[in-house]
Amino acid sequence: MAREWNAPIYNSQRWRKVAKAYAASQHYICERCHNQSFIGTGKEPHWIVHHKQHLTADNVQDDNIVYGWDNLELLCIYCHNAVHAPQGTGRTCQFDENGNLVGILGEK
Ligand SMILES: [Zn+2]
Ligand SMILES: [Zn+2]
Repeated sequence: MAREWNAPIYNSQRWRKVAKAYAASQHYICERCHNQSFIGTGKEPHWIVHHKQHLTADNVQDDNIVYGWDNLELLCIYCHNAVHAPQGTGRTCQFDENGNLVGILGEK
């Protein structure tokens, strides 16, 4: 489902700045699974700055919700997908002790 109302935020300079600063403050490590596999790869970042309190049409005007660090969480793309797919995609990430992604269970 398209969410036109929040697209301008994610494309804004301000959001990018905040997201980048927040990700740097977490050392680009996923806060849930501590996945670090995206560090230093030089590839597209696989982390996402997620809003703990999901953005809705009602709270999107609230600077504290959108830009406040208290509402932000740095997630790898797998954890982020899981957060936004409460029904579950049936996928579980597996990591080695160094935080490298070694496999995705249930991936088709
Ligand atoms: Zn999110
Ligand atoms: Zn993760």
